[in-house]
Amino acid sequence: MINIYPWQNEQWQRLMEMQQQDRLPHAILFCGPDGIGLKKFAQTAAMQLLCLSKNPENNHACGRCQSCQLYSAGNHPDLSLIEPEETGKQLKIAQVRELIEYVALKSFSGKQKIAIIEPADAMNRATANALLKTLEEPPSQSMLFLLSHIPSKLPITIRSRCQRIDFKPAYNQTDIDWLKNNLVDSKLSAEALLRLSGGGPLKALSLLEDEQLEFRHTLLKDLKFMSKKNCDPVQIAANWHTLGLESVLSWLMKIILDLIRLKLLRDRANLINLDLKEDLQDLVNSLDLVALVRNYDFVLLKYQQSTGPMNYNPLSIIEEVVLHWNNPEIAK
Ligand SMILES: [Zn+2]
Repeated sequence: MINIYPWQNEQWQRLMEMQQQDRLPHAILFCGPDGIGLKKFAQTAAMQLLCLSKNPENNHACGRCQSCQLYSAGNHPDLSLIEPEETGKQLKIAQVRELIEYVALKSFSGKQKIAIIEPADAMNRATANALLKTLEEPPSQSMLFLLSHIPSKLPITIRSRCQRIDFKPAYNQTDIDWLKNNLVDSKLSAEALLRLSGGGPLKALSLLEDEQLEFRHTLLKDLKFMSKKNCDPVQIAANWHTLGLESVLSWLMKIILDLIRLKLLRDRANLINLDLKEDLQDLVNSLDLVALVRNYDFVLLKYQQSTGPMNYNPLSIIEEVVLHWNNPEIAK
């Protein structure tokens, strides 16, 4: 019984090899783009590790033993998962302390005691520090799975104590086919959605559910207003703030990359926002290449800062980005 996504086979094989050669570490950091399915992978791996009678043909969890039944019922005593109480919020230190005590307990089945932290980058410094001792001196049966699509947000002390398994963006034909089979009523093609999602097929699906794709229209419209000096930058920053910092910065980078591509190469076939090519073309004519490149660098810098371990005020970052776009020295 195996329940991973088709683009996760390589990482699965790697994990199985580690297991067969008896060199599984106490902590693994699973990294990959948003929407690559890290949680499902980690849970499937946990089920496999805890299974008491693996399928002899393929070493997968059997789905029938006591352990697999407890797993399927969602109450396996040797598996725990913590996540923030609300999406996008931080993990509480009490959650992490509880988890540390949990992995120190004796295992119920005599196998591993597995804890999944989803996402690990939702730990602030104090919380991460609390976990550090467990990573340095792991209890003998403990096994921690840390999941992150922005591992740079994790302190280096945490990262350096985990073995890392990376998932690359899923852009292969099989990934496109998987997405096609799972798309319901989309104006955009699977390829276009996958490109917009940054190679995370589950993220590509979720783009259709929330307003993410509409955000791009707001950003483009405001960039156009600003290029005509026809607006109040403070008001624009306040509007963008309601869209969420990470969304704003990551969509801006994609939009500016497309603008640069249009300006420099006149290449309309390989745009990330292929469905917006007319609007992008319309905007790019009033912009200057040097200003675009500087703006890209600036937004990238702000993105790296905002996803780093330090806490920044989201509104002031957005204001800086808007002001940078409007700076007459660099932007036409
Ligand atoms: Zn089993």
